[in-house]
Amino acid sequence: MKRFWVVGCMTAILLAAGGLRAQQAAQLPALKLEAAAEVDKMQTLTQQMVDEIFSFSELGFQEYETSKYVTGILEKNGFHVERGVAGVPTAWIATYGSGKPVIAFITDIDCIPRASQKPGVAYHDPIVEGAPGHGEGHNSGMAVNVTAALVLKKLMDAHKIGGTIKLVPGVAEELLGTKAFYVRAGMFKDVDIVLGAHVESEFSTSYGTGNGEWSGLVSVQYFFHGKAAHAAGAPWEGRSALDAVELMDTGWDFRREHLRPAQRSHRVIINGGDQPNVVPSEAAVWYYFRELDYTHIKDLYDLGNMMADSAAKMTGTTVDHKLVGSAWPPFLNKVIAETQAKNIEAVGMPKWSEADQTLAKALQKEIGAKVEGLKEKIEPLTEPVKKPTGGGSDDIGDISWNVPMVYLMYPANIPNLPGHSWANGVAMATPIAHKGSTAGAKVQAMTALDFFLQPQLVQQAWDYFRNVQTKEVHYEPFLSADDKPAVEMNKEKMEKFAPQLKKYYYDPSRYKTYLEQLGIQYPTVRTQP
Ligand SMILES: [Zn+2]
Repeated sequence: MKRFWVVGCMTAILLAAGGLRAQQAAQLPALKLEAAAEVDKMQTLTQQMVDEIFSFSELGFQEYETSKYVTGILEKNGFHVERGVAGVPTAWIATYGSGKPVIAFITDIDCIPRASQKPGVAYHDPIVEGAPGHGEGHNSGMAVNVTAALVLKKLMDAHKIGGTIKLVPGVAEELLGTKAFYVRAGMFKDVDIVLGAHVESEFSTSYGTGNGEWSGLVSVQYFFHGKAAHAAGAPWEGRSALDAVELMDTGWDFRREHLRPAQRSHRVIINGGDQPNVVPSEAAVWYYFRELDYTHIKDLYDLGNMMADSAAKMTGTTVDHKLVGSAWPPFLNKVIAETQAKNIEAVGMPKWSEADQTLAKALQKEIGAKVEGLKEKIEPLTEPVKKPTGGGSDDIGDISWNVPMVYLMYPANIPNLPGHSWANGVAMATPIAHKGSTAGAKVQAMTALDFFLQPQLVQQAWDYFRNVQTKEVHYEPFLSADDKPAVEMNKEKMEKFAPQLKKYYYDPSRYKTYLEQLGIQYPTVRTQP
């Protein structure tokens, strides 16, 4: 009897909850308007987050100030924060709410080496010479996701909307360094939908392989070990680890002609020895091997290992290697993308000022790019290309093969820039980034509402994930059981520059904007060509 009573009671509760969701679904258009209005009210905090994280300028795995700052805001607003997740000191998960669905927001937080740049200045002018800087614009992502999350929290409380929000940072994205570890640690096990956000010059979303300009990759460092000797007095006694690096590189470049056109591989020598009169006993080279799918990436990886072993044999040295990053090519969810595209359309492009356009055009002219200013129209959702060409990578790929996910591109930067350079930092603490982040936050919040209030949409997203995306392709990580996140990377570089950068950290209690703190006239453009 008791059991029937319990079951009956549960059914009644579920029906009531279902009824509440149905009622709320009817209010969805009004709730979305409310969300957008709330995001507008938070423009000052959004701007402060964009500017503050820009000023921290922290490289991958060293995002200590950034993580402290963002988690501080979230905790102050009632989010529960778990730090140091997946064995990564600067990674964390912030959670609010309870029950299903669980919607996770993710966005990157790291910056680019040598990309220091004064914002609002349309030519190369570093804040600190040689220092890291936000030369991609990852400083704006948390402004988008945190603003959206705080607004959602407010609406969930006010309207008794059930469900859970989670926020996760993309630590060391430039090194493709963490998200496969997040997946391995089970961070997305209970997550229903992932809403990623990334800075762009356009306002768009995509599904499947999108425009086809994504590759997956492995990032591998090869360490050669030889024998030191006097390079003139007794070179026959030595075995040069640098010779092995050079032979591996030469071998790879000859083989390159006979690889699929879709491959992209590149390297830097991270240790070339100490001085010419010492036969280098230690040398190291770091490769990125990119291809379109797991099998082809794995083939390149195996080939790289074979080249390294062969170079070691030729030179009488030994070699070992370390996987320091990996990424599956992203595959995004059609159901979520279609839902999100409608919200992008509803929000529309930010209204750019004369000053915004002047900065954009001056920078495009400065770097020899097509001079067309900022984009004025959103990009419509299009079918994925049939034949992907490959291009850059992002370790959100690993997440996208484990949970239905989309990647919102929000318009916070200037078009036609080279990427990963000082030029991509110019707009990133100016009204262009502030307005673009506000627009992005609206879409994130509105899309989350769509999934909170329409459980059938969550179901449809999973149907696409199970029956289309992963019907034939199954996720296999590149990581082995003993691979560990490369958390020591960038430590020395950051220790060198942090004391100098600290002098320029943004202080919102004294200055309205970072431009004001730096005393930069907006926009600053060359007066003469
Ligand atoms: Zn990025």
